[in-house]
Amino acid sequence: MRLPKFEYRVPRTVAEAVKIVADVGAEAQFVAGGTDLYPNMKRRQQMPKTVISVMRLPELNRVTGAGDQGTVIGASVTLTEICENEIIKRDYPVIASATRTISTPILRNMGTIGGNLLLDTRCNYYDQNYEWRKAINFCLKKDGDVCWVAPGSSKCWAVQSSDLVPVMVAIGAKFRLVSAAGERMVEAREFYKDDGIDYMNKRPDELLVDIHLPPTNGWRASYQKLRRRGAFDFPVLGVAAYVRLDRDAVIDAKIVLGGIAPSPVQVADAAQALIGKTLDDDQIQAAAEAAYVKARPLDNTDFVYQWRKQMARQYTIRALRELM
Ligand SMILES: Cc1cc2nc3c(=O)[nH]c(=O)nc-3n(C[C@H](O)[C@H](O)[C@H](O)COP(=O)(O)OP(=O)(O)OC[C@H]3O[C@@H](n4cnc5c(N)ncnc54)[C@H](O)[C@@H]3O)c2cc1C
Ligand code: SF4
Repeated sequence: MRLPKFEYRVPRTVAEAVKIVADVGAEAQFVAGGTDLYPNMKRRQQMPKTVISVMRLPELNRVTGAGDQGTVIGASVTLTEICENEIIKRDYPVIASATRTISTPILRNMGTIGGNLLLDTRCNYYDQNYEWRKAINFCLKKDGDVCWVAPGSSKCWAVQSSDLVPVMVAIGAKFRLVSAAGERMVEAREFYKDDGIDYMNKRPDELLVDIHLPPTNGWRASYQKLRRRGAFDFPVLGVAAYVRLDRDAVIDAKIVLGGIAPSPVQVADAAQALIGKTLDDDQIQAAAEAAYVKARPLDNTDFVYQWRKQMARQYTIRALRELM
């Protein structure tokens, strides 16, 4: 598969980057490592005429702060750098360990945290070459008018498949977006939308500049990923668990499921099963049951979807046991 022709721009400042995208308009798209965008372009799913690299923007290439006051990670920091960063490993081990599960070492050398958080949604009927998609007359997400997963549906159910998204939602990260019109901060939990086509609360002209992690004052988090091959594969279920403890009692909790729907799924009943209690096997079982009830994967990724639903229970147990 060949890339379509495009113009490649390499701005050196954030102001220059957002000016280019504002000037070019809808035909422009940012690229970081290109591990998601370039395959999509080869499959003719995304066809920007101007591709704007965000890899030479110094503001996007640094990690500042630490766990005691909060940490800011530039969007172009590579996944390998995340895995190896001493502050992230020490203060946010859940981010380092979840990042280590993403794809392969070579892709982690190229891929960035920003690209990961803005990953396109995935579906067995969509992640195919142009001829394959043409043979089924395409689908709602691109060039067609029917959803092959749920033919009666007017909505696309392509799956949010990033490993870091459920973690960012669980720990309460914020994203800073900059455009020619100004800047805004969005909570990770408000950033993702339950629609496989319109899946982000972000305009195309907005540049993700950095990711703001909260201070690590008394919370712990873990992440468990279901995939076919341990060496590399997208998650077809990811469970992020977050608890804040006061002595033995859980005073805050979040369970967030990834890889099963167009957006990360926060399970409020699982949190309620934990808050105000001791983190023991009975409470973990109750939270896992709530995650199982809430998980409603569809038949558009690897593995039988009914089994992925069953696994929501097991992976929630694993994630919470890690925090005991
Ligand atoms: C074989 C394979 C296996 C993979 N396995 C996994 C996996 O297990 N888990 C997982 O989570 N991912 C996986 N990925 C997806 C991908 O490699 C990673 O998510 C990676 O982090 C994407 O980052 P990138 O910098 O390459 O993104 P890019 O491809 O450069 O960009 C992705 C999207 O983000 C936009 N973008 C990038 N940076 C910015 C910015 N700063 N501001 C605004 N828009 C921006 C681009 O326009 C594009 O739409 C896999 C990919 C492949 C090819
Ligand atoms: S969920 Fe439906 S519309 Fe969305 S990509 Fe898959 S087949 Fe296409």
